[in-house]
Amino acid sequence: MENVSKEKFEQYLCERGDELDNAAHEFLCILAGTEIEWDISLIRRVISAAEEHLEHYGIPYCDPYHDEADGAGLGEDIICLEECKNPNCPLKMSANVS
Ligand SMILES: [Zn+2]
Repeated sequence: MENVSKEKFEQYLCERGDELDNAAHEFLCILAGTEIEWDISLIRRVISAAEEHLEHYGIPYCDPYHDEADGAGLGEDIICLEECKNPNCPLKMSANVS
């Protein structure tokens, strides 16, 4: 197993978050039929709901995040679904970030 540098992972985490947020916002605008205000709380709710539905249908998704088990919100452990099929996800290469 190859180790993934923390820097590489942080970059992916940022890019992936932006990609998902932008896509969810665009989806909401299409659904509303008009350009709506950027609302990150609404966007996150849409993403969470979509992930719940994907889980229900047994479809893995890629939305990695910091393990917040330490309470600080910036845990060293990075988590993505074990079943994640995204070939660009650094976590597919290693679960260890160094
Ligand atoms: Zn992933």
